[in-house]
Amino acid sequence: MTDESRTRATPDVLIVGAGPVGLTLANDLLRRGISCRLIDSADHASQKTKALGIHAKTLELLAKMGVDHTAIERGLKSPAFRLSSDGKPIARIDFRQHLLESPYPYVLMLPQHETEQLLTDHLQRQHGAIEWQSELIGITQDEQGVEAVVRHADGTVEQSRVGFVVGCDGAHSAVRHLLGLHFAGTTFEQSFAVGNVRLAWELPYDEIVACVHRGNFIAYFPMVDGRHRVVIAYELEKAPTGEVTLEEIQQVIALCGPVEARASDPTDLTRFHVNQRRAEHYRCGRIFLAGDAAHI
Ligand SMILES: Cc1cc2nc3c(=O)[nH]c(=O)nc-3n(C[C@H](O)[C@H](O)[C@H](O)COP(=O)(O)OP(=O)(O)OC[C@H]3O[C@@H](n4cnc5c(N)ncnc54)[C@H](O)[C@@H]3O)c2cc1C
Repeated sequence: MTDESRTRATPDVLIVGAGPVGLTLANDLLRRGISCRLIDSADHASQKTKALGIHAKTLELLAKMGVDHTAIERGLKSPAFRLSSDGKPIARIDFRQHLLESPYPYVLMLPQHETEQLLTDHLQRQHGAIEWQSELIGITQDEQGVEAVVRHADGTVEQSRVGFVVGCDGAHSAVRHLLGLHFAGTTFEQSFAVGNVRLAWELPYDEIVACVHRGNFIAYFPMVDGRHRVVIAYELEKAPTGEVTLEEIQQVIALCGPVEARASDPTDLTRFHVNQRRAEHYRCGRIFLAGDAAHI
């Protein structure tokens, strides 16, 4: 590995992390005529479906960038949420009745990689770009600006002087660590399982459905490709361990409902715990945190 100093035109803002938050920020800064540079340590965009639901307020913000129509074309409008307990329906909330004030009276289901793609396309239309394989490894600041140290794929290390830095670099944020900020909060004991499946059932395909039964919970979110995201929460101390399987999902469906539903063709199965954490400050002088870097 060789170290080398590179110089380039100084942007007003260095954005660290090209997830949905970094991409949104880059687009919004460029829209306002503020120059920025967007770096990411990964070698390409993630193709994981991750966050699915885009709410009305977010669509209003995407409209300011002019990308709301593209998002709507590529996504699926979910018009309602149903809840049942012990097999009995107890609520159905029709978003068209409860979100009358919004031009978007639904939850738009769009996989995160699609959201990131449309934000990237818009960034390119504004002559912006993501610099992949560029990892922030150091940061210092004075009253006039910030000195950022960026390592590239070929091992070269670049010193870059910018006006401001925004850490949009996710839950394990390097910016937050480099600032020495605590990420106070808790990891909930309850264990969750998640995956995408094809469902055969009687319920309307496009509605969000949640079913509870004695401390167990399963929710179904429709996806634009005809499948459903399934999220399962287990009763404390009764969660399975090891790999999530289709059989496990089918057992929870039998327990919580709807009993006639049959799941098949599983992908992206994993377990996770929910964290609730917040950085002690979102700003230190000229350096900011945003998105998962700031709060999860
Ligand atoms: C399986 C899964 C399912 C999920 N489902 C949902 C859901 O249903 N609903 C929901 O709201 N959320 C969900 N999430 C969470 C959601 O994906 C995150 O909240 C979201 O991605 C946060 O966006 P972000 O831009 O803040 O950070 P990220 O998307 O984490 O992006 C951070 C970026 O920073 C880059 N980076 C990290 N360190 C550096 C560095 N030192 N230098 C340069 N770049 C760096 C990373 O490569 C990454 O591209 C899910 C997450 C997963 C993993």
